[in-house]
Amino acid sequence: MNSPPSALTANLALAPYAVTDAVSAGRRFDEPAPNYRSEFQRDRDRIIHSAAFRRLEYKTQVFVNHEGDLFRTRLTHSIEVAQIARSIARALNLNEDLTEAVALAHDLGHTPFGHAGQDALNECMKEYGGFEHNLQSLRVVDELEEKYADFPGLNLTFETREGILKHCSRKNAAELGAVGERILRKRQPSLEAQLTNLADEIAYNSHDVDDGLRAGLIDVDQLTEIPLFRQQYDDVIKRYAGLSQRRVIHEVVRRLINCQVVDLVQHSQSQLNRVRPQNLEDVRSSAQPLVSFSDEMRERNLELKRFLRDHLYRHYRVHRMSAKAARVIQGLFNAFNNDPRLMPDEARRKTAILRDQSGDAGQARAVADYVAGMTDRYAIKEHARVYNPGELT
Ligand code: MG
Repeated sequence: MNSPPSALTANLALAPYAVTDAVSAGRRFDEPAPNYRSEFQRDRDRIIHSAAFRRLEYKTQVFVNHEGDLFRTRLTHSIEVAQIARSIARALNLNEDLTEAVALAHDLGHTPFGHAGQDALNECMKEYGGFEHNLQSLRVVDELEEKYADFPGLNLTFETREGILKHCSRKNAAELGAVGERILRKRQPSLEAQLTNLADEIAYNSHDVDDGLRAGLIDVDQLTEIPLFRQQYDDVIKRYAGLSQRRVIHEVVRRLINCQVVDLVQHSQSQLNRVRPQNLEDVRSSAQPLVSFSDEMRERNLELKRFLRDHLYRHYRVHRMSAKAARVIQGLFNAFNNDPRLMPDEARRKTAILRDQSGDAGQARAVADYVAGMTDRYAIKEHARVYNPGELT
């Protein structure tokens, strides 16, 4: 094959403002450089080998894990985010390995049962500093994973950690050291972190449409009132008469993803051409994020988000599930925080350590770590073991 080298397949040098090993702020604990891998490949590989990553398979975003085998889990969601983020990174000559690491780790701190679980745990932790899932993802990679002989956590690079943190309250940022500074000083994260955050949005908006349709909670007629969906749907119907509904939906969803990715790449590239950052520092000190959708796409996107909020996330069947999930989380937290002896040995040991360090708040934090680390099905079983007299062990 003598095809001309394509910008997308040739191993081109990264843009001068991309994150590279050479400009990385490094790891919390110094380590020798990896053999045959970049620092960010090593981050990605450590994430893939973590226990928290494996648990993503049995955690959900909108639907509870056992509802159906075809719905997205946090694992498949994270893989979809990585796919989208890598495409965007490569198109913009940014560091694909870093975006992949951030994408695969971005949901590691999520509680069981998606947002319902997070809200419930935040409420339980109100008096003890609250619970933020982004912050918890950072806590997982910095503290909670126990794997390596030389350091706690995964000892990831600064840039991967900053991408995982995304945002948190200023109060919490003040306690995080270097990785929280950006939030206090209102500086931008790397372009790789910016784009992975938007890849997350593209992924969940699109796959929630797909999963919502499959679950029968929303239908195509409703969705055609949303311009972003409508446009893709009309194109598909016009071009492929008589296509089965299943293929129509998949074709529309893939076009939804594609049109958002194309818009994001084009709009970001034109901003970069205009602002001409010379290096990573220019990116960080820029007044605005340099990776973003066009105004029109941002508006289209918001319409879709509002639709999903009103018709899917607030659907009574989703709400019933969320209400149950919240009761499971509250029940577990209260039982364990009132009597840590109810917890298995390992969780109880960690609770005692944090209690010694910081009293009630430390104990509550350890209980929140334990509950947040549960998969959906483990939380349901554990709740039954704690509350149901008929349940053994
Ligand atoms: Mg996500």
